[in-house]
Amino acid sequence: MIDQLPSLALLLKQIQQVPYVASKNIYRVANHFLDMPEDRLEQFCAILLTAKNKLQHCPVCHAWQEKNGACVFCSSPRRDKTIICVIQSWQEVLSIEKTGGYNGVYHILGGLLCPLEGVGPDDLKIQTLVNRVTDEIKEIILALDQTPEGEATSAYIADALKGKNVMLSCFSRGMPVGSSLEMLDRLTVFKALSERRPW
Ligand SMILES: [Zn+2]
Repeated sequence: MIDQLPSLALLLKQIQQVPYVASKNIYRVANHFLDMPEDRLEQFCAILLTAKNKLQHCPVCHAWQEKNGACVFCSSPRRDKTIICVIQSWQEVLSIEKTGGYNGVYHILGGLLCPLEGVGPDDLKIQTLVNRVTDEIKEIILALDQTPEGEATSAYIADALKGKNVMLSCFSRGMPVGSSLEMLDRLTVFKALSERRPW
């Protein structure tokens, strides 16, 4: 049936390629866009393109920043630059910031090691982390998922930082096994962070 609606088929194919959109929701997302008034849809596309053009990754911590501005974390005088929290992606920054209990800076890896999916150390921002760890850095918090990929990535980073004069820590044991940061509530993240233990 879809073959007879080539425009719809093309749209569905595009939505299908968006990660995190569950396959059962593809039609709903398509309907949402198609039912939008044309001016609102045009505005949506324009905002998306503008964001794409105006944002970039901070060359230090890899968080999003405005191209014509500075990184809100790396450039803030209120942030403790001697503590770096290593996380998988941008969403985790939001989870940690929501707790209001972290004052250090971040390092976003852009994923986790996953040999089965062909993700190796060179695909992640690990080397830029190693380069960041100078004598001024006191602590690296490995705040990665409590999953086999997260554990393997933490172990790889710990090994890469061997010989550096820095304390490695990780979240408290209160973190549920198999959990990812962005799925946890604010209090759990706050506790895991404030009660962190040596790696
Ligand atoms: Zn930054």
